[in-house]
Amino acid sequence: MTYAGAIIGGSPEYGETLSIIANPATGDAAGEIAITDAAACERAIAAARAAFPGWAAKPDAERQAAVARCADIIEEHAEELARLLTAEQGKPMNGTGSRFEVGGAAAWTRHTAGLVLPVEYVQDDDAAHIAIHRRPLGVVAAITPWNWPLMIAIWQIMPAIRAGNTVVIKPSPFTPLSTLKLVELLQAALPPGVLNAVAGPDELGSLLTSHPDIAKVCFTGSTATGRKVMASAAPTLKRLTLELGGNDAGIVLPDADPQAIAEGLFWGAFINNGQTCAALKRLFVHDSIYDAVCDALVAYAASVKTGPGTEEDSALGPLQNEMQFRKVARLVDEARADGARVLTGGSPTAGAGLFYPVTLVADAKPGMALVDEEQFGPALPIIRYSDVGEAIAAANAADVGLGGSVWSSDIDLARDLALQLECGTAWVNKHGAIRPDTPFGGVKASGFGVEFGPHGLSEFLSLQVLHD
Ligand code: NAD
Repeated sequence: MTYAGAIIGGSPEYGETLSIIANPATGDAAGEIAITDAAACERAIAAARAAFPGWAAKPDAERQAAVARCADIIEEHAEELARLLTAEQGKPMNGTGSRFEVGGAAAWTRHTAGLVLPVEYVQDDDAAHIAIHRRPLGVVAAITPWNWPLMIAIWQIMPAIRAGNTVVIKPSPFTPLSTLKLVELLQAALPPGVLNAVAGPDELGSLLTSHPDIAKVCFTGSTATGRKVMASAAPTLKRLTLELGGNDAGIVLPDADPQAIAEGLFWGAFINNGQTCAALKRLFVHDSIYDAVCDALVAYAASVKTGPGTEEDSALGPLQNEMQFRKVARLVDEARADGARVLTGGSPTAGAGLFYPVTLVADAKPGMALVDEEQFGPALPIIRYSDVGEAIAAANAADVGLGGSVWSSDIDLARDLALQLECGTAWVNKHGAIRPDTPFGGVKASGFGVEFGPHGLSEFLSLQVLHD
């Protein structure tokens, strides 16, 4: 099937250059999409700019209702969107796969619809009237990755339009189909030009991040690209939200119960096959329970099926793209060569598709690339420690800081240690939990700015003070 490569001013556009999007489970085509060129991208920006004054001037209740209607539309088309997502991204339909992602997209949209834009009064009496109003910024460029394409699209689009901005979204070239379909469906709830989409190569991203008519860039992707985005946006002083890579550490204390924590550790690390920004990517386990934790993880892993996302009992699918597949294989091979022990998995699954099994790597150490780099795949290094201070220091040695966790039956101690982790979100006895009402974002090279809830909404607004 051929999908529109752009939605501009409310209309789908079918260009002449087609790109085949591969299904990572089979290598066959998930669909083909008309690639947007720079001229079409300029038209998308112009459409968003033209729509901005009218959208910004609407009564706020109308924008709230439109965003709520978007949530209805996502729910009405949930199964169609989920199937498309599985076809292009690879994730399973069930578990924390496509149906979960589409459900989350609807839930985040509905929550965002209910957020308010209050006027705050600093002083309001005979001596002075000072009020703080919130104003939208203009046209927002939304640039998304391939791991959670629909959820991340919603995280960027919904607060932007809820606040009164208009949007041009550019999805990853690996997973454009579900985003373009989503944007096409949402046109029924929004005036033309409020939400536009362009599918195409990375160069379209640079066009957006340097364009003088873009007021803000909301970017989710790798730290390396985030640096380019910031540099590109500097000449026009754009507002930025950068949600970048992570290398989250989890620290298991000696008093933790290995059986009780195995499932939480496993899904903290392997959700979406590890292709998740805030997945647990380095597991530090105290020497006294190291073997017991490894055994419990290996036993849990044996109960999880990796297979084509279309098979209803698959809990994990293939890796999304070949580059990522090769990276995971290389990191595991290098760790093994450096003396680490592969407890389960450890080599690509034979046959069609980008399948790599759940891989647990014991005796991993800082200095190994599997520990020091973001693997972004189903291979978890398990690092032995004997001094918790040293484990915290090793966790904080990473240049990134998205999430982190501490696992213990002593909650007070775990809280104290969790607060010592240099990261945007620290969890106790879980990893990766996020909510639409709670801010989420990174520190250090994981980026800046937060998403979700009132704090996330404020990233799409400027304050205007009125003295009268
Ligand atoms: P990526 O940086 O390669 O690409 C992300 C997006 O940026 C794509 O749409 C791409 O086309 C676009 N792009 C590429 N070059 C660009 C440029 N010069 N200017 C503007 N746009 C450009 O990232 P990816 O491989 O798609 O995603 C994986 C990365 O994303 C991982 O590092 C992961 O940790 C990170 N991520 C972070 C979060 C978070 O919330 N912090 C969430 C999901 C993923």
